[in-house]
Parts: sequence; C-alpha cells; structure tokens
Amino acid sequence: MSALMLNKSYFIETFKKIADMVEKNRDHLSKLDSDIGDGDHGINLTIGFREVEKQLPLLSDSTADIAELMKKVGMILLSKVGGASGPLYGSFFMKMANNTTGKQAVTFKEFCQMYQDGVEAVQMRGKAELNDKTMIDALIPGLKVLNNYKEGDDPIKTLEICVDEMKKGSDLTIPLVAKKGRSMRLGERAIGHRDAGSESAWMIMNEFLQQLKLEK
Ligand code: ADP
Ligand code: MG
Repeated sequence: MSALMLNKSYFIETFKKIADMVEKNRDHLSKLDSDIGDGDHGINLTIGFREVEKQLPLLSDSTADIAELMKKVGMILLSKVGGASGPLYGSFFMKMANNTTGKQAVTFKEFCQMYQDGVEAVQMRGKAELNDKTMIDALIPGLKVLNNYKEGDDPIKTLEICVDEMKKGSDLTIPLVAKKGRSMRLGERAIGHRDAGSESAWMIMNEFLQQLKLEK
C-alpha cells in the first residue's frame, strides 16, 4: 500500500485528461459563467489547456523533476489565459512545485501537500475567503479532506471523498452573493447560480482521481 508513488508521467497523463475534460465541458463551463459572468470560463480553460497539451511531449522530456513540470504548466496557463482563472490556476500548479524540487515521484501524502501549496497560492493571489462564491469554495473543502490523510488510508478513497466534498462546496455557491470576481457586480442577482470556477475546480481534481485509479 505504502508503495504507491506518483511519478512525472502520472502528472503528465493527468494533464492530458484535464485537457480532454475542458474540451468536453467547454460549453457547460462557459454557460455557468454566462449566467453571472462574461461567459468565457470554458473558453479560457480550453485556450490554456490546449497549449499545455501541445507542449506536454516536450515537457515530458525536458523537465528535470516534478517541480519543473508543475512550474512550466502553471506558467503556460498564466501566460495564455486572459481571464481571472488563468493566473489563479496558473499559480495553483506553479506552487504545487514548492515541495517537489528534485523529486521524480511523490507519495500520496506529498501529493496532499502539493495540493495545499496550490490552494494557498490561489488564496494569496485572489484574496478570496470561503463563501465569496469562487473556486475557493470548492478548493477548501477538498483541502480539509486531504489534510486529514494519514499513512495507511486508501489514497483513491481519500481523493474520492475530496472530489465529493469539492462538489458539495460548489453546490453551496448557488445561494451566495459574490464577494470576489466579476459576479460581484451583480449583487443579489447572482443568487441561484453556481460559480463556474467552483465547478471547474472539482472537475480538475476529478481527473487527478481518474488517473490515480489507473496507477498501479
Ligand atoms: P473572468 O472572470 O476574468 O472572466 P474566468 O471566467 O475564466 O475569468 O473565471 C471566473 C472564475 O474565476 C470565477 O467563477 C471564480 O471561481 C474565479 N475567481 C474569480 N476571481 C477570483 C478570486 N479573487 N479568487 C478566487 N477565484 C476567483
Ligand atoms: Mg469569465
């Protein structure tokens, strides 16, 4: 059990899955954003992840460790995506690199730390708190689950619960008024609509889960 190690190709395969997922859900994510934003969230993510996917073969060979891979993917999102989500997801992946310098593989416990580093970066950049109706409302409930992971727990089960809690966090954005981002301007009119970034956040983590299920 404790032998599970997530190597660079785990992350590369996950990024491929995320790229596929955002293509398939482009209209869905943009529709959520059009209800209370400017309708481009799905488009923004496809712009970013198409470029990531294009560069993955090169990144797979040219990056020295997991840290460099995560940093480069984050930088692509940061530089290619115009909307708020580009810098936010860009920082998320870039900061996942923090504790992975020199590592060719990480344990699931270390993966949990990577996620925490990523979420902290999103909070640092966007300054959103829980219940501000942003992706943070999905990211934080997921963090609580991963922070509780202990050696001996089942990583797949843990990530399943993490994604479930993230989904619930996204559901909880529906009745909220937004305190950050574009939908802030709508005031009470944002009530009754899900935040788009909270949806993409759990969907992204779900791809980490789907790829984990394929690891041996
Ligand atoms: P834009 O708002 O520039 O059009 P996107 O549509 O791609 O960018 O992304 C919008 C999503 O970004 C929102 O649904 C929200 O989840 C997230 N977001 C916006 N501002 C913040 C923030 N300050 N902190 C965290 N997430 C944010
Ligand atoms: Mg938008």
